[in-house]
Amino acid sequence: MAKDRLTEVLERYEAVIGLEIHTELTSLNSKMFCGCPVEFGGEPNTRVCPVCLGMPGALPVPNEAAVEATVLAGLAVNCDIALWSQFHRKQYFYPDMPKDYQISQYDLPFCSGGYLDVEVEGDAVCERVDRSGDDEYTTRIGVTRIHLEEDTGKMVHVGGSEGRIAGAEKSLVDFNRAGTPLMELVTEPDIRTPEEARRFAQKLRLIIVTLGVSDCSMEEGSMRVDGNVSVRLRGQTELGTKSEIKNMNSFKALHDALAFEIVRQADMLDAGEQVVQETRHWDVGAKRTSSLRSKEEAHDYRYFPEPDMVPFAFTEQWVQSIADRLPELPDAMRERFMATWDLQKYDATVLTSDLAMAEFYEAAIAQAGAGRAKTVANVMINDLSAHLNAAGITMDESAVKPAMVAELVGLVDDGAISGKQAKAVFSEMVETGEMPSAIVEARGMKQVSDTGAIEAVVDAVLAANPDEVASYKEGKTSLVGWFVGQVMREMRGQGNPQVVNQVLKDKLGG
Ligand SMILES: [Zn+2]
Repeated sequence: MAKDRLTEVLERYEAVIGLEIHTELTSLNSKMFCGCPVEFGGEPNTRVCPVCLGMPGALPVPNEAAVEATVLAGLAVNCDIALWSQFHRKQYFYPDMPKDYQISQYDLPFCSGGYLDVEVEGDAVCERVDRSGDDEYTTRIGVTRIHLEEDTGKMVHVGGSEGRIAGAEKSLVDFNRAGTPLMELVTEPDIRTPEEARRFAQKLRLIIVTLGVSDCSMEEGSMRVDGNVSVRLRGQTELGTKSEIKNMNSFKALHDALAFEIVRQADMLDAGEQVVQETRHWDVGAKRTSSLRSKEEAHDYRYFPEPDMVPFAFTEQWVQSIADRLPELPDAMRERFMATWDLQKYDATVLTSDLAMAEFYEAAIAQAGAGRAKTVANVMINDLSAHLNAAGITMDESAVKPAMVAELVGLVDDGAISGKQAKAVFSEMVETGEMPSAIVEARGMKQVSDTGAIEAVVDAVLAANPDEVASYKEGKTSLVGWFVGQVMREMRGQGNPQVVNQVLKDKLGG
């Protein structure tokens, strides 16, 4: 998908995108309507009971912690919390759902009418935005609602060769996931580009992880994003026919699938064809969407109030007690990092884009001192991030600890080692998990800043190279770099570069 093709299409067409984001509340101990544990993986059909298997006569009991988590999420994205709400039955047949209906919410969801402000790099393609910087803009994406429901089981399709009849495929069903508390957030169709969609999903993920209610793993399916997208000619007010895209299991897939779909629909309209309302599947390998089924309408589900549970009546005081539990959210944390540590917006954004990163930073500053906030940020944003990316590991899996970064920054600041030596120490620290001071000691890497010692080496180098000294004095001052190199070689790289430079210039009269 060439990016310039999308840009070209978006000059003539406006894309209208809304997202539906399902988040499994993986941090809870039990399922939505029974006491079975919530865990990823495990032997199939070992975390089940009559309730989540949909046995006749089994009665659901709502998970209070799941209701609280949903209200907490609603408050975090500026929603109104309904004081009166209810579960409904959503009827449809699929083998991964043994009751033949899903307990969900219909017209009385817990949360509605919220929004998230999303910062996006580049230029906006519509007017409805604030410029928040030279190279980015902020757009407000409405949150229509957040409701709570139960997840389905999982179908496992087994290849033909393993079937009883050669060439036939068989499908197995695992109900371990059935009944897992699932929070569904629906946005307003306020999103205009694939990048805005990606930024929204990333920001929402960070917020939900911060709330501590889900791990939001797109790979493991605990966060699943579906997109509704349509296009219309710029200036047209009527909405185009939309398609719904499923199976986007990474932020990149979300972006690429929406970009593909916008171009596909625009091409159809350009050719005088009509877009069909349907559900489409994103094929990561082929990098294209393909038709899955025609889209159901809400009335196909024959929603009706769940007769086994009474409606929820919340009080303002109860909602306030949930609001009191809201942790510091990512935007507030970024503002605090900028104000407290005097960081640039970019640095503060990177450091607060991941909770583990933010905690690491604060722990390192606590040991290094506030005066080294900027240098600690540099080591983390440059060296540490590069190391994590290259190794493909998370902060928690790395051998590098806050105390090590704090000590390393201190050694450079105090002139004990050079910046170049610090890079070498960092590489070894990553491998061994040893403290920088121990590495410096063991490798004899101490930087020599003692002027007397450096002067002795400089004198020897100048005496050994009279021709170069003469050239320098005749005006070829660029030779200073060559002299520095000679001195550093004699000192096996341990001379303090600033002191070496200064001594050389003094001696050469430069
Ligand atoms: Zn169960």
